[in-house]
Amino acid sequence: MYAIKTEGLTKYYGKTRGIERISLTVERGDFFGFMGPNGAGKSTLIRTLLGLLRPTGGRAEVLGLDVARDREKLLERVGYLPAETAFWPGMRVRDALRLSAGLRRRDCGREARRLCERLGLDPSRKIDELSLGSRKKAAIVCALQHEPELLILDEPTGGLDPLMQREFFAILRQRSEAGATVFLSSHILSEVQRSCAHAAILRDGSIVASGAVKDLTRAAARRVSVRGRAALDALPGVRDLRQTPEGAEFLYSGQTRALLAALAAGDIQDLTVSEPDLEDVFLHCYGKGGGQA
Ligand code: ADP
Repeated sequence: MYAIKTEGLTKYYGKTRGIERISLTVERGDFFGFMGPNGAGKSTLIRTLLGLLRPTGGRAEVLGLDVARDREKLLERVGYLPAETAFWPGMRVRDALRLSAGLRRRDCGREARRLCERLGLDPSRKIDELSLGSRKKAAIVCALQHEPELLILDEPTGGLDPLMQREFFAILRQRSEAGATVFLSSHILSEVQRSCAHAAILRDGSIVASGAVKDLTRAAARRVSVRGRAALDALPGVRDLRQTPEGAEFLYSGQTRALLAALAAGDIQDLTVSEPDLEDVFLHCYGKGGGQA
């Protein structure tokens, strides 16, 4: 059974490409990451899936419902967290939560209180007076309080501090273990790597790779920066090698042992190994023109 199924889904804003021929399936109960840099089309896909945008071509089914025809039924069963949250001016958090629960024709008081407590959000505060992070928390509670069977989260961690991000993902994992499907968009590779079982990578409106996260990221190189000198040109797995005044920077996807041996044979004072950003993954693991993993 699919939570999400699209076939050739396309959305153009006039002449501007939003998404192009996206065919995607997400199984019920999956924890699915939708990755891509800014402008790739993540929000467009999500808003089309929710029936908030009318597709230019193709079709989409969410929880077995046709998104164009059954939008209202769908919104009752889905929790949606938009990338940018907007509330009516002058509202308190609790009013916004009640309004959102009312739209779903549910009394979600207990779950709302539990979520506010976990996220450290005071429901009596005026939303206009909240920090960006607290406004995000209010939006999270709105999306989760009715315990939907499908969570669609657009760049959910923007604005949350690292501690809250951890708490938020803990909540998502519990929901997932209880059977909910989680579909989240992100431009942060580590976020998807840590939590998602499956993922798709979007670039310029199209999916360039999809599958199990462990397969998608197996090829992912590390970004390495060294201070000092070592013979790296001929080392297999070194790409994008750039000499810097202090040493060198490169992407590395070879064996750790081989890298350490090459560095040990040189004269290295310092070494930093970090996660590649998404752009690195696109350019060096999936090729400039894209292609399947
Ligand atoms: P992402 O969520 O991955 O950052 P978006 O879906 O927001 O990407 O945007 C995909 C493309 O669609 C971008 O080129 C963006 O400029 C364009 N786009 C998004 N929303 C609109 C809009 N309302 N009108 C015109 N173009 C838009």
